[in-house]
Amino acid sequence: MQLQDLQKRVQSSRDVRLSPLPFQAAMFVVIVVVTLIAFNTWQIWNAHQRNLQSAAKDAENLARSLTQHAEDTFAQVDNNLIELNERIETEGLGQQQQARLQKVMRAQVSNFPHLHGSFIYDAQGNWILTSSGKPLGHSNYADREYFQYHVSHNNNTAYIGAVIRSRTTGDLVIPVSRRLNHPDGSFAGVVVSTIYVNYFRQFYNNFALKNNTSLSLLRSDGTILYRRPDSEDAIGKNISQGVLFQKILPYSAFGTATITSVYDNLERIYGYSRGEHYPLVITAGLAKDDVLADWHSDAALFIIGGGVLLSILVALGLVLIRQINYSVQTEAELTRTRDQLTLMNHTLEELALLDGLTGLANRRHFDIALKNEMTRAARNDRSIALLMLDIDYFKQYNDIYGHVAGDLCLQQLCRMLKGMASRSGDLMARYGGEELAVILPDTDMQGAQLFAERVLTGIRELNIAHSGSPMGIVTVSIGASAKIPHPHNDTPIGLVNLADNALYNAKKSGKNKVCTK
Ligand code: GH3
Ligand code: MG
Ligand code: MG
Repeated sequence: MQLQDLQKRVQSSRDVRLSPLPFQAAMFVVIVVVTLIAFNTWQIWNAHQRNLQSAAKDAENLARSLTQHAEDTFAQVDNNLIELNERIETEGLGQQQQARLQKVMRAQVSNFPHLHGSFIYDAQGNWILTSSGKPLGHSNYADREYFQYHVSHNNNTAYIGAVIRSRTTGDLVIPVSRRLNHPDGSFAGVVVSTIYVNYFRQFYNNFALKNNTSLSLLRSDGTILYRRPDSEDAIGKNISQGVLFQKILPYSAFGTATITSVYDNLERIYGYSRGEHYPLVITAGLAKDDVLADWHSDAALFIIGGGVLLSILVALGLVLIRQINYSVQTEAELTRTRDQLTLMNHTLEELALLDGLTGLANRRHFDIALKNEMTRAARNDRSIALLMLDIDYFKQYNDIYGHVAGDLCLQQLCRMLKGMASRSGDLMARYGGEELAVILPDTDMQGAQLFAERVLTGIRELNIAHSGSPMGIVTVSIGASAKIPHPHNDTPIGLVNLADNALYNAKKSGKNKVCTK
């Protein structure tokens, strides 16, 4: 590498400190953290939605199976009523018929434990028959809601009345009734069976459900027949003004909806279902808080775990980034130091090969270069030439002009000599004292002589006054040798000796000339 390039690199390495590596590491940590947060959030949200969906499905299934149960219960009771109705309307209510009817009624009630009793009233609301066979305390029942209904509705369907308290036993019961007609279609009375509310209470409380889960058995007009959790206050209440009856049931017979209860203000996921054969609605509501209780604790664990994991990750990331930063800086420092050292080495090397006074190659450099060039010349079978120069009467120059002027003169000559090197392989060296040497690779004796003559001329043209020399100016004598070296027989010293001998001859024969050998 060139010295200048190295100097530039050492300079630039001082300025450039930013490496993309720590930034990339930071981006990596950020991406991992963001991905982890996004993934965890998605997981938690997904679990939340899954919980709600599965609760909605459970609630709907529960509502639909309770509807089936309620319809079966009311259908059983209604079948009894139909049977009684038919017997009365075909056979009448004579003494004999009454005795038979009473037996049937008793059998019906004992067959169905959830039946509280069966009763037959005449058109004025006076009791005619009871399943128990006992007379009723109150003789007239025309004030009952279901009785009033049948007076004003001539239809052939069962009527489910609002819950009433039995006047005979004090039990809460649901009356299911049918209208009795005379043959001409006029009102003849009512046949009614009552179902224990307790029956539904026991059935609904059999389910292992959370406390806030509500199960409601309603008439389709919104009147509560029974509601779990158990509360007598609820029975008879009408919730027809709530969202379910106003906005949902008019459009769908069954389904799910999340509603805040008008009854206790709890938000629940409701499954609802309308009875197919009887005017009933059943709802099963799972409190949202109950549904999400497990999810809440799972999510909390997930968030805490995720938080700890993230903290560890961020901490490790920071350590990693710091480490990378440190490594990058250390590496930059090392590169800088290495470049500086290389630069210093190159400088030292150059200094070690240069002569301080003249700036020419020094003796060491000359020895190395001559050896290399001779080897190369021998290998390539090419001629190599060597000139040895010695300043004439230099001792006198020093004596006359002083040592400093001698140095200056030497420097001037060397500068001129340096300028004469035309090929990159040419090497001008200070051989020692005021003796100089020129290595001319790929040059034969003729070329060497020509070069030497040019040097002589050049020095003469410098026209440095020298009163101690017969020439009046500073001149040099040159000995030149040239040959195609034999790989084994010829040595650098041999070539130097040849040139030295030639120089000796030049000196002996009058100086200021070139001699060859
Ligand atoms: P000749 O013509 O035969 O070469 O005679 P000369 O006086 O030049 O004799 P010689 O070649 O033996 O010269 C050696 C002298 O060169 C000795 C010293 O005074 C001078 N000299 C050698 N090196 C330096 C130098 O670095 N600076 C100076 N100023 N003088 C030097
Ligand atoms: Mg000398
Ligand atoms: Mg000399």
